[in-house]
Amino acid sequence: MPDKDTTKKGEVLDLLGGKKRKKAEPAAEEKPAAKKPAAEKKPAAPKKAALDLLSRKPKKPEEKPVVEEKPAPAPEPKPETAPAPAEDAGDDKTLSIKAPISVADLAAHMGLKPFKLIAELLPMGVFANPATTLDSDQVAALCEKHGITYERQKREKGAGVKAPVEVIVEPEAKPVEEEPEEALKLRTPIITVMGHVDHGKTSLLDYIRRTKVVAGEAGGITQHIGAYTVEHDGHTLTFIDTPGHAIFTEMRARGADVTDIVVLVVAANDGIMPQTKEAIMHAKAAEKTIIVAVNKCDLPAADPVRVRTQLMEEGLVPTDFGGDVECVDVSAAKGTGINDLLDLLCLQAEVLELKANPKANCRASIIEARMEQGKGSSATVIVQSGTLKVGMPFICGPYAGKVKTMLDDQGQKIKKVTPGMPAEVSGFIETPNVGDELVEMDNERSARKLSEERMEELRQQRLTAPRRSRMEDLLAMMGDSNQKAVLKLFLKGDVQGSVEAIKKAIMDIESEKVECQFIGAAAGPISESDVLLASSSDAVILGFNVKVESNAVKAVKREGVQVKIFSIVYELIDQVKDAMLGLLEPETRETVLGHAEIKQVFDVNKGKAAGSYVSDGKMLRTAEARVLRDGQVVFDGKMSTLRRFKDEVAEVKSGLECGIRLAEYNDYEEGDIIECYTLEKIKQTL
Ligand code: GDP
Repeated sequence: MPDKDTTKKGEVLDLLGGKKRKKAEPAAEEKPAAKKPAAEKKPAAPKKAALDLLSRKPKKPEEKPVVEEKPAPAPEPKPETAPAPAEDAGDDKTLSIKAPISVADLAAHMGLKPFKLIAELLPMGVFANPATTLDSDQVAALCEKHGITYERQKREKGAGVKAPVEVIVEPEAKPVEEEPEEALKLRTPIITVMGHVDHGKTSLLDYIRRTKVVAGEAGGITQHIGAYTVEHDGHTLTFIDTPGHAIFTEMRARGADVTDIVVLVVAANDGIMPQTKEAIMHAKAAEKTIIVAVNKCDLPAADPVRVRTQLMEEGLVPTDFGGDVECVDVSAAKGTGINDLLDLLCLQAEVLELKANPKANCRASIIEARMEQGKGSSATVIVQSGTLKVGMPFICGPYAGKVKTMLDDQGQKIKKVTPGMPAEVSGFIETPNVGDELVEMDNERSARKLSEERMEELRQQRLTAPRRSRMEDLLAMMGDSNQKAVLKLFLKGDVQGSVEAIKKAIMDIESEKVECQFIGAAAGPISESDVLLASSSDAVILGFNVKVESNAVKAVKREGVQVKIFSIVYELIDQVKDAMLGLLEPETRETVLGHAEIKQVFDVNKGKAAGSYVSDGKMLRTAEARVLRDGQVVFDGKMSTLRRFKDEVAEVKSGLECGIRLAEYNDYEEGDIIECYTLEKIKQTL
């Protein structure tokens, strides 16, 4: 991984070493954990547009890789019967769950720590991590080890004489259940404003807030909490108060896709500029409805018609030109056209039929978080489903909490928040991350228990590399289906001319098995925002004669996005072609074997050795190893010595102590984790 922000010309550089520290996925050779059905995360797909005014179909809610984005295990549906506590189980322990199930979830059901199961899976030839999905045979084998009867199928009604006693202990965040249609109520839409710098995004948001926020008892003094709600024509609308696509894409990359509608601000005197194009790209990649506010129409130099023509060049055809993109001429300075814009937003919200069940288990997304001296951590959330209430216990990321106070966008204390509405919430033990999901828990005890589980998982998973799309995996993506595999690409080039030429050349490659889709193509260096966009869209970034900004290099590592830089056009085209034909070199895949914690550091011949305890899996003398300190890799290389007492050994299993030396590394510290792993080449088969 080059730790620099430039790449040499004339070389093909693969920036794919992206190893993920924050999120985890199943070990590479295993099946991915079962994804939640889309319906779990989002309200039901909107019905066909009722209003002909906007003849376009409402956008289908995006299916999100929920499991990949969250460190927590995918919550399995809870059994229908109430779980009895483990201690009541006696000898008649029965576990009634549906497989596949993640190791972490199974451990929670069995009342064990995940790494206990991970250790037990090793002799079965399964190198698992907490997110690894287990099939019913594996679940049965583990249950057998613990003297638990595993019921594979749903119990038949009336079967059996004695009701089996379950040892299912919580704690799980409640799954998102498909809501019955009648329970769904229309919810407030969430709007993000995007556009080029100085085109008037902040002015527009300020104008709407100033004139439309319903004055509260305190006289309508608005307070910046990251989002605010206005009332217009009997509708409520929630605006995210941080304009721009950076936070929008960051939230999406973290799995919190809260925005429903994007308002694209384009200054009528300036027209479409580079960041306007970026914003369009981001909104399109997220499949959001775009409404264009052609701003600064009060200026003499304003040319709203030119803006519409330029929009067409970007693939957004205004309704006045026979297309389906609403454009409205406004002036954020004078306030003209703003009511028309709000009318359109209300109409669009109706078309999208955004619904949520206010009585469901509460889920909310963190859109801002802060830590203030003396006040502790607080965060602005937008409720997705259910109703957030003061006193409600919750889990947010890995931390448990309980809603202490809630303030609305005017700083007024409120007791409950319904779907689509924002609030500033206090009661977090630790400052959450933007994009984390807050989920209601039944009680504080189960919230704390789930928190412990999640912390343990984080410790275990922090180094498992994420697996975003890679060109080398293209054939595997096809699976057994006859459908075409889709290779999503994001192209950055030195000049617009080369970008267009490369894009065309790639689109001209003919393949019956693979379809290339460009989520974006633009001139300029590869930025952090590009990487986040690629990450949230699961795309590969191709760079032609461009630099990678240093923040982007960090994001590549963090997000695990594949970035390939080229300086010769035909090499770039050839590689895409090879990928589409399945001819790319096999990729190296990493399998984590185990972890050891350094308990003591010894002086040995010309260096140091780490006296360690193998906490899970095993240490293998011939394998690779890395040292982790507070979740960060401080060394990555080969294991050079592995000893039990004085003897050199080939491997040391979980639960044993050993002495480890790694290549020329000597800066071990107590508490560091040594992660042992192997690298193997993956063969591609046609
Ligand atoms: P942002 O960077 O997109 O958030 O843009 P700002 O809202 O900060 O606006 C940039 C500049 O344009 C400021 O000086 C605003 O006063 C000015 N501006 C914004 N909207 C309008 C408008 O409708 N008409 C005129 N004449 N100026 C505007």
